[in-house]
Amino acid sequence: MSKEIIVSGIRPTGNLHLGNYLGAVNNFIKMQYEHHCYFFIADYHSLTTHPNPADLHNNVKQVLVEYLACGLDPESCTLYIQSDLPQIPELYMMLNMHANLGELERVASFKDKARTQPNNINAGLLTYPVLMAADIIIHKATKVPVGKDQEQHLEMARTFGNRFNRVYQKEIFPEPFAFNYGNELIKIPGLQGGGKMSKSDGDGNVINLIDTPEVIRKKMSKAVTDAGATEPNTLPTVPVQNLFDIMKLVSTQDKLKHYQDLYASCSIRYGDFKKDLAEDMIVYLQPIREKISDIQQNENLLKKVARIGKEKASESANKTLKECREAIGFRSF
Ligand code: AMP
Repeated sequence: MSKEIIVSGIRPTGNLHLGNYLGAVNNFIKMQYEHHCYFFIADYHSLTTHPNPADLHNNVKQVLVEYLACGLDPESCTLYIQSDLPQIPELYMMLNMHANLGELERVASFKDKARTQPNNINAGLLTYPVLMAADIIIHKATKVPVGKDQEQHLEMARTFGNRFNRVYQKEIFPEPFAFNYGNELIKIPGLQGGGKMSKSDGDGNVINLIDTPEVIRKKMSKAVTDAGATEPNTLPTVPVQNLFDIMKLVSTQDKLKHYQDLYASCSIRYGDFKKDLAEDMIVYLQPIREKISDIQQNENLLKKVARIGKEKASESANKTLKECREAIGFRSF
């Protein structure tokens, strides 16, 4: 199998939750041994919403700690903080010169943001897809693990890379495409009966990797179910199926079958089901939670990881930037 160059960033918005872990990070851990992977913490991207400096730093640190606790291995992948690479804004600036106002204004996420935060429609928000393109193509990525909602941004990364190649008559950037590790994207449902596990629906909708057993028990006791099955052998309702989907990932298959059978015979007791699921989540997350608290105390490790990540990512970024500068006509005397 030929190795792909894979780039993936995450915005530092707080703690990782079970959806981030099972839907993304768990795959990164396998991918890092099979491909050339660049994982970064997207703190430049955070600036569009003007975070307070202390919060920004703490959030970056927390994602770094949690990535390491989950099993990202800085020796096998390149794990870095975006703002440690000034090469990225340099490429962003170059790409911006060929990005048209019209195409940026048409991006769905820009239109959404312009509607939801009408008092802060800044140029960074407009050119967000250009920064994202720079993140990806600076390492000449061939694959990016993205969900459907990011497909438009990825297409723009291809457009900006191709345009640069065409304008300067050089084949610098390959085209990056979406990447699915395994066969299908898994979606971890939230606890409130509706869509996916996501912080945007409040902390009660997610199980964070750092949640203590008490917090997990409390959140699970409030997880939405239904009024109880009345007809035998009917399909579970969405909220109950959501909990079965989570159980499938953290419990034994025998236990899952036990509760599915109880549901089918209309004799499931949701209180017991949710308590049992909470205990399995606690056991499942316990080793990660312990590692998080160890790594959090280990400032030397974090410093070392950030330094190594910066060195490795800079080496790749510098090579690309050198080609771009020469192509543009920035040449030394
Ligand atoms: P977010 O910070 O919500 O953008 O999440 C970062 C990444 O985690 C996403 O790009 C997804 O790959 C993954 N992710 C987040 N929530 C879920 C979920 N509920 N199910 C599966 N994957 C998820």
